[in-house]
Amino acid sequence: MKVIVSEIPDDGLEIELNDRIQAKDLNIVSPVRAALRFDKQDADVIVTGSVEGTVMLQCSRCLADFAAVIAGRTDMVFHPLSTIRETEPGQLKGDELDTAFYQDDCIDTDEILAEQLLLNLPMKPLCSADCKGICPQCGADLSVAGCTCKRTETDPRLAVLQQLLPKKE
Ligand SMILES: [Zn+2]
Ligand SMILES: [Zn+2]
Repeated sequence: MKVIVSEIPDDGLEIELNDRIQAKDLNIVSPVRAALRFDKQDADVIVTGSVEGTVMLQCSRCLADFAAVIAGRTDMVFHPLSTIRETEPGQLKGDELDTAFYQDDCIDTDEILAEQLLLNLPMKPLCSADCKGICPQCGADLSVAGCTCKRTETDPRLAVLQQLLPKKE
């Protein structure tokens, strides 16, 4: 939805969202839920709250696609775009917050939601905490099925199991 900046009351605006949004670089597969608060500070708008949505990620170990719930806190300040030219770099307030710009008296909440999901993506996504990854030799997904490659470091317990398996000719 669009928030009209001049219509934000002096004591702030609180909204709850449950929106399907599209974002580039991000495959969002659920409606994104958010509780956002907008507070005006002169021409700036401070946005705080929480955002949660489900996105498709690729596991950094086994390369499988999986759905991950991404949740995070929002702490952003929107400056009016027209002030960029008038303000020296470094004079912008709120360095500790994520900085963004609005124009035409309007802030698009879709952009806030997409931005916050992006910011909260894990550095090394894992489809599950005990994902075994793929075999470095044959590429088999070791969480789904084993493979017959000889690994240099064989767990002694596995070696016993391997002897029990029927031998391939
Ligand atoms: Zn995985
Ligand atoms: Zn293998």
